Amino acid sequence: MNFLQTNLNNFIREVNQIGGTSMNIEQKLFKAATKLIEERFPTGQGSAAAMCTEDGTILTSIAPETINPSTEVCVETGSICEAHKLNKVVTHTICVIREHENSEYKILTPCGVCQERLFFWGPYLKAAVYDEKNMYVYKTLEELQPYYWWKSYEKQAGIQGTKNK
Ligand SMILES: [Zn+2]
Repeated sequence: MNFLQTNLNNFIREVNQIGGTSMNIEQKLFKAATKLIEERFPTGQGSAAAMCTEDGTILTSIAPETINPSTEVCVETGSICEAHKLNKVVTHTICVIREHENSEYKILTPCGVCQERLFFWGPYLKAAVYDEKNMYVYKTLEELQPYYWWKSYEKQAGIQGTKNK
């Protein structure tokens, strides 16, 4: 990718982050996650993740059920694996939970393990976090972890350490 293309891509990303498309993506992800919850868990507790990749692909996942609780993994895991399988860069993620079919949706910030896996795609990947007023807002991983451990290597590596800059 040459210099002009890189600048153009950065410009497009910035425009998307200011409003328009990004807002749509953020809302679309919430919708994708809640749709999956309603379909897969029509009653009782349900939770799902939805992620968006750079080309607009939406990936969704739920946590696998296990007999031994020590083998459980987060709902985001499936989408993360799927993105790697497709070799796509994740730009946005949301995790939604509902305690039962009549309760309101809650947004869960990615846990530390998921944040670590998401950092593969860079500090500007946006994750939905709980917001009292608007139910959720998206924050970059950098905002969630301003002292991320990779910072010690950034200068040495000459890059931000990840693909999504
Ligand atoms: Zn997690």
